[in-house]
Amino acid sequence: MSQKAVTGIDKNTGVKHYDLVIVGGGMVGISLALLLAQQQSDWTVLLLEAQAYDHSDKHNSHPSFDSRSTALSWSSRKIFQGAGLWSELEPHASAIKKIHVSDRGHMGLTRISADEAGVEALGYVIENRWIGAVLLDRLAASTVEMMAPERVAKIVPLKSAVRIHLENSDEPIQASLLVIADGANSQTAQKLGIYSDKQPYGQQGIIANIALQDAHDGVAYERFTDQGPMAMLPLPDFDGSPRCALVWTQPPERSAELMAATDKDFLKALQESFGYRMGMVKKVGERVAYPLALTTASEQVRRNIVVLGNAAHSLHPVAGQGFNLSLRDVATLADVLGKAKSTGTDFSSLETLEGYQQKQLADQQNTLMFSDNLPKLFAQPSSVVALGRNSGLVMMDLLPSLRSRFAKFGMGMANKEAGHGQ
Ligand SMILES: Cc1cc2nc3c(=O)[nH]c(=O)nc-3n(C[C@H](O)[C@H](O)[C@H](O)COP(=O)(O)OP(=O)(O)OC[C@H]3O[C@@H](n4cnc5c(N)ncnc54)[C@H](O)[C@@H]3O)c2cc1C
Repeated sequence: MSQKAVTGIDKNTGVKHYDLVIVGGGMVGISLALLLAQQQSDWTVLLLEAQAYDHSDKHNSHPSFDSRSTALSWSSRKIFQGAGLWSELEPHASAIKKIHVSDRGHMGLTRISADEAGVEALGYVIENRWIGAVLLDRLAASTVEMMAPERVAKIVPLKSAVRIHLENSDEPIQASLLVIADGANSQTAQKLGIYSDKQPYGQQGIIANIALQDAHDGVAYERFTDQGPMAMLPLPDFDGSPRCALVWTQPPERSAELMAATDKDFLKALQESFGYRMGMVKKVGERVAYPLALTTASEQVRRNIVVLGNAAHSLHPVAGQGFNLSLRDVATLADVLGKAKSTGTDFSSLETLEGYQQKQLADQQNTLMFSDNLPKLFAQPSSVVALGRNSGLVMMDLLPSLRSRFAKFGMGMANKEAGHGQ
């Protein structure tokens, strides 16, 4: 295990001072801590996480590393590769070789393939618990300090730092930069008067692992139904059985029925709604339902403060973009902070942080719009809209350039300025 970076003491107050305090040790908070630790080992970083990590937890009850699976884009792979983490994640990942998009009850359908896009894979699907296991192992061996369970009680902005009072300690700490990554509806951001605008979709996303009769051959299916979109994403085999990760969006009443249904009835409903493209569905694992909303923070940067991850923007999961976008934010932020530090510029100044936000603005806006419009477009029952979207899908199947643009978006390459997509 490596030495933790030596934390400074504020000369005037005697208070412990860190370069960064990251609140929220979920996928985003830990990723930032690890990217910084990899970049320059002299960053002093403290991570505060509300819930202790329990490695023996069979129910995956941690809020970030739970029973979900995440479709990582090609650009996320490259970021994790740069941080030396990909070789540990890859054994738990299933490569997406093809994406198959269809609209139930209509003829439009399109296929996007990795070969056509000229990449090894369009993305990778990994269970969150494995992402958690890999990130937490690396964190334990890094220079990052960790406090869990711990929460922020009070934040006092100072002239060029923030003072942080903790719930479980009488000793305050200080940070040049406070990173708020404690998820959607962030309590920490609210303490600073940063609020989130929440627009519920009036839908829930049911997730579950599904055992299949036949091999999935690396095909991911996105299917739009009258009730809402559904995705079946390829997972590595388990116990010799092919598996996929289901994300099934439904209105709340139908979601409650499906959550209460027996496994047999659930599988029957799934097969009816999804069809037989992936063959027979054999078994369903633990089901969890998430209420879905588009949530955006009123501010992302202030002097000495950054809001990241779901605390900054939380998206509809249909296009699998939420974490991928946040990881591009994280990589850009780490880059901007590293450059400022190495040139002796104040890395926590408003100017530096606004520079970060400016670099990510187009990527954030495009990804938010794409993730928000996709489910809304397919939710329209009007036959004119249905005709439009189906001719769109048919056109996409016929026009390689349009398909390759869609594929690039999914791979996180839509915004070349972000620099992580190439
Ligand atoms: C059904 C579903 C499927 C999804 N699929 C995909 C996908 O395929 N691809 C993709 O890119 N994205 C996907 N997403 C989005 C992705 O899960 C999120 O973008 C990601 O979890 C955001 O991580 P985060 O660390 O910002 O927030 P979270 O995962 O919410 O983590 C926040 C952390 O902060 C901690 N915390 C909370 N309050 C406090 C506090 N007061 N003090 C300290 N710590 C605190 C929590 O315990 C938690 O550990 C999906 C989302 C859903 C709901």
